[in-house]
Amino acid sequence: MTTIDFANYEEKKTREKYFADFDRAQYKAMSPDQREDAYARYLMRYECLHRDNFSCQYVDPTLGYCPNCHNEYRHPFLTVHHIKALRNKGHHKPRNGVTLCQPIHARYEKKALALTFPVAEHLPPHIQGATFLREKTAKELQKPKWQRLKEQRRAAREIRKSALQNRDFVRARDLDARLIALLISFLTVPYYELKAHNMPLCV
Ligand SMILES: [Zn+2]
Ligand SMILES: [Zn+2]
Repeated sequence: MTTIDFANYEEKKTREKYFADFDRAQYKAMSPDQREDAYARYLMRYECLHRDNFSCQYVDPTLGYCPNCHNEYRHPFLTVHHIKALRNKGHHKPRNGVTLCQPIHARYEKKALALTFPVAEHLPPHIQGATFLREKTAKELQKPKWQRLKEQRRAAREIRKSALQNRDFVRARDLDARLIALLISFLTVPYYELKAHNMPLCV
């Protein structure tokens, strides 16, 4: 996530003016879609910063302010966060954006903190007073299933061990069957769900 250089956001830049500040080689290397995306993102940041009065909107529910930046006006490390993440097809629209200081933003993206926002008129209604947990990716949603299976296998193995120690062979055989069934369900999880994929962070 990029922290914001306020100089670019005092006045709304036209597309021409926005790209005039780009490195020429960098600009040439961009596809028309990438240019579209960059300018839409700029406009979103511009609108969000002005709407949010150049201050982080996170409010810790018990403290009533942001413990990092104290919602300070023009805190030096401000970012604009996408409420609906880009990886989940969120748009560069002001109503999908909210100003956050960089450390709070980073903690949210690492799933270390839920975002809570004040009931403040300037914020879009779906953000006012709301709490957001970081959205999970398809891969992350799969993870608990794997962990659950592993735990079930570990538990079944333990019970089987104690059944054998107690010479309860019928019970041990039942558990053998259970372990095999679990192993099969383990092996039938499609390969694509195991593949690690890089997901872009909200920037
Ligand atoms: Zn974000
Ligand atoms: Zn903050």
